[in-house]
Amino acid sequence: MTTTSDASRAAHIPFLDLVAQHRDLEEALVDAFRRALRTARFVNGPEVTAFESEFAAYLGASGCVGVSSGTDALRFALAALGVRPGDEVVTTPHTFIATTEAVSQVGGVLRFVDIDPDTMTIDPRAVEAAVTRKTVGILPVHLYGHPADLDPLLAVAKKRGLWVLEDACQAHGARYRGRAVGSLGDLAAFSFYPGKNLGACGDAGAVTAGRAELLDAVRRLREHGQAQKYFHETEGYTGRLDAIQAAFLRVKLPLLEGWIEGRRRGAAWYRQALGDLADVELPKEAAWARHVYHLYVVRAERRDALQAHLEKAGISTGLHYPMPLHLQKAYAHLGFGRGSFPHTERTSDRLLSLPMFPELTESDVGRVADSVRSFYR
Ligand SMILES: *Cc1c(COP(=O)(O)O)cnc(C)c1O
Repeated sequence: MTTTSDASRAAHIPFLDLVAQHRDLEEALVDAFRRALRTARFVNGPEVTAFESEFAAYLGASGCVGVSSGTDALRFALAALGVRPGDEVVTTPHTFIATTEAVSQVGGVLRFVDIDPDTMTIDPRAVEAAVTRKTVGILPVHLYGHPADLDPLLAVAKKRGLWVLEDACQAHGARYRGRAVGSLGDLAAFSFYPGKNLGACGDAGAVTAGRAELLDAVRRLREHGQAQKYFHETEGYTGRLDAIQAAFLRVKLPLLEGWIEGRRRGAAWYRQALGDLADVELPKEAAWARHVYHLYVVRAERRDALQAHLEKAGISTGLHYPMPLHLQKAYAHLGFGRGSFPHTERTSDRLLSLPMFPELTESDVGRVADSVRSFYR
């Protein structure tokens, strides 16, 4: 991910501008650091518990446990849901590898299904057919900030006795039928990696719950399996949310809604500027969704050449993700090839993430749009 400073801002449009975000917050972040320093409560303590309740309240979730990353959030959630070696988990190959690493690392077996090309998230119609006697749960990913279609997934889960774990690492504040993701499944995982819509100044994550009783197990796992100091119910991990990161996140959380509005404004400008262009398919927002545009992912003809053209014009873009998981070397043992998941493959061949961050201006979007149009002329 590229970040930039004032000086190069005029000429270059970054993919993401974290420097701009932190410029206005510097005093508040330094104050937060000072507060943590002066209490010397670096592990657990008041900053962590305050952030946990503030984030749960923001989502309308029944609880939140801070952990050290989004990947740990997924891992601890899967363990808390009781995944055992050989248990099957249904998810999609169109995601970041952390989703599937977590499944494998608790001994689970991946059952991939294709995406719905409209939302680029798991296709609920494909899920029930993938459920076997060994399946224990469904792991939808709210990719790019657009929620997966949860109601049909929750219905299959109910009918077949499965849990639903939401990978909400890209979807802070996204809504499904008016309710925040992260409060709708049994558990959900969030990442506060710096580039996420709500980002710490380092690694951080959280597990949130629809069902709060599952959070006790997550709380134990992040701290060596202990419910009480030095009394261990199971083995666990060092996987806590760092207190300094919690203090930083408390500064940023009240600003998240405004940032989401900035991203949605950027998306609306892109739609105005590029909506009529036949060579580029813009991201859709389902009628039941509030998209938070963590990434603004278009699908374009001659994608690689378009990306090079934009780079030459000083416009940074990204590919999320250039190779679907079922075709990665890491998953060769699953035995999939090209053609296994056609919608996923067609999407990864054409996708391109355009610059997207809350401070994006209308003239930035205009420049990106002009450059895209000049490529297809
Ligand atoms: C970022 C991300 C994760 C992992 O989060 P980390 O905090 O980097 O461990 C998991 N799933 C998805 C979809 C992500 O985008």
